[in-house]
Amino acid sequence: MPGPAPFGISYDENPDGRPIVLAEVWPTSGFLAQGNRRHRLARAKAVLHKLTRDGWTCPECGGHVPMTRRADAVYCREACRKRAKRKRQALGAGVRPSWALWP
Ligand SMILES: [Zn+2]
Repeated sequence: MPGPAPFGISYDENPDGRPIVLAEVWPTSGFLAQGNRRHRLARAKAVLHKLTRDGWTCPECGGHVPMTRRADAVYCREACRKRAKRKRQALGAGVRPSWALWP
């Protein structure tokens, strides 16, 4: 699945140091119509919510999740996501039961 538009949203801060997420939107009809404005605004809103709640940090490495990731991304990159999955599997969680044969 392709990722979201990398430059669709941008980060800014107001004078109090609180985060502002700006969304780039296009006209919804006519010659320049492209994409869905509502999806872009929902992404900006979700990212802002994450930034204000916990700073949107990766639970695996503790780094910041880049703004180019999907709004529902938990980890900063695929390597961290896979490392966390392998840790979970090593602990025995998420393993298929023995009666569940391939696939
Ligand atoms: Zn990470």
